[in-house]
Amino acid sequence: MSQIAPHFAGPGRHPDLDAEQVRALVDRSRAAQPAWAALGFDGRRRVLLRARSIMARDMDRFIGAVVRDTRKPYEDAQLEVLSGVASLDFWAKRAEHYLKDQRVRTRSPFVFRYKLEIGFAPRGVIGVIGPWNVPMINSFGDCIPALAAGNGVVLKPSELTPSLGLECEALMREAGAPDGLYAVATGAGATGEALIDAVDFLQFTGSTATGKRVAERAIQTLTPYTLELGGNDPMIVCADADLDRAASAAVFYGFGNAGQICVSVERVYVEESVHDQFVAKVVERTGRLRQGLGHGEPGRVEVGPMISPAQADVVKAHIDDAVAQGATVRTGGGLVETSDRFIEPTVLTGVTQSMRCMREETFGPTLPIMPVRDIEEAITLANDTPYGLGAVVFTRDRARGEAIAKRLQAGTVNVNDAWMSYFALEVPMGGHKQSGIGARHGAEGIQKYCDKQTRVVARFHLGNEPVWYPHDGRVGRLLRRVIPLVYGRAPR
Ligand code: NAD
Repeated sequence: MSQIAPHFAGPGRHPDLDAEQVRALVDRSRAAQPAWAALGFDGRRRVLLRARSIMARDMDRFIGAVVRDTRKPYEDAQLEVLSGVASLDFWAKRAEHYLKDQRVRTRSPFVFRYKLEIGFAPRGVIGVIGPWNVPMINSFGDCIPALAAGNGVVLKPSELTPSLGLECEALMREAGAPDGLYAVATGAGATGEALIDAVDFLQFTGSTATGKRVAERAIQTLTPYTLELGGNDPMIVCADADLDRAASAAVFYGFGNAGQICVSVERVYVEESVHDQFVAKVVERTGRLRQGLGHGEPGRVEVGPMISPAQADVVKAHIDDAVAQGATVRTGGGLVETSDRFIEPTVLTGVTQSMRCMREETFGPTLPIMPVRDIEEAITLANDTPYGLGAVVFTRDRARGEAIAKRLQAGTVNVNDAWMSYFALEVPMGGHKQSGIGARHGAEGIQKYCDKQTRVVARFHLGNEPVWYPHDGRVGRLLRRVIPLVYGRAPR
């Protein structure tokens, strides 16, 4: 494993906005929003597609903004920017489909004379609070459907990675969005709290612990929210799996972005008959990885640094805990000597379910691998966690893979791959259990940014409805006879 001498510039200096400054940004966005909504889907589509084209033509500008703050490898940042381009394209073209008025047919005899319709209107100003690990996908990416729906947006990116959000402020201006419609509030937790107080809806992505604090804050103003939180994703490898593909996937999805992805493979359960073979393939592939700082050029390294020494400490603590309880480090195992930000890609065997690396979110480049008697045991262990974000199954038998998926307590399950749910914008991506409330993507991923209105319109009507006053007893007696005839029969 090669290493490049570590040097970490970190993000530039940006002010921590106070409550008054945050409120001013929200007010400005609120003032710009009606004109943006009035553009309609066609007008907004043109602006968002212009933004898409600028981003696609000048990808390195946005990759540079991600790399500047994170020093992740070019390819990790490029994947993020590709998702930004795809997301601008998707929501520009599909917002209208998801937000058009929906006619609903009724089966109720009480309302058969009425037209039932659901409509969607922008809520006003949406607050988005994001984490540091993928600033395009989980910060600006969540702003795109909110904008496509006709809202103003104020983003509070992580204090560790503000550059991409700010670059996108310039992008939206260049694309022709009204001034102030999309704005960035830089700062840490207190800035986030001020944003929650000021907006009409909050989309939060971050750790489960912070998510709980955010929910407590939002309830004070009854601000509606969705929470995309932490995970501890299991990968199940069946004995019949293509072991080469499974091993390559474990290495890519375990160590990609240095393991700092909410849906990283965090723990692997392998049927015992193929365990040793699988481990050998994973160790061999891990040994070939080059580790170092991203320099904004493709092809240099595979695994980058941790975002901070504090995050590296968490990962190191999980490795040390596993070793202290009897696990074996098959490759890697700790901090690269010359840096407090590089954790070597680490494969652990001899792990047990009670170890921190199996029970908690590690959020680093570790792959603990555990043999299981059979798939029943794998499913039980995979579900034995407070988290429920993603899960992965590898088998040559697709039907079996899907059957296993249905028994996993996870918002998203990939069979014979992982992370693809990030790019499948038509389907929701959210967490079960303590991994979140609500979802991004799909119909839900844009309708949540709207006030929903139910319209019930009387089509043919009488001068006076039978249930209105006066109550002379005729309707009451009639209903007493009719209701048992319609609803009173016992099911066969
Ligand atoms: P974090 O919870 O520490 O911070 C997230 C954001 O919340 C930051 O912008 C931070 O400044 C802000 N914040 C902190 N305190 C706040 C408060 N009291 N009120 C409002 N905002 C506050 O998370 P992190 O370390 O930046 O990111 C890593 C975590 O994010 C991991 O747990 C990871 O799994 C999770 N994550 C989840 C998803 C998902 O889609 N489910 C995606 C990416 C990351």
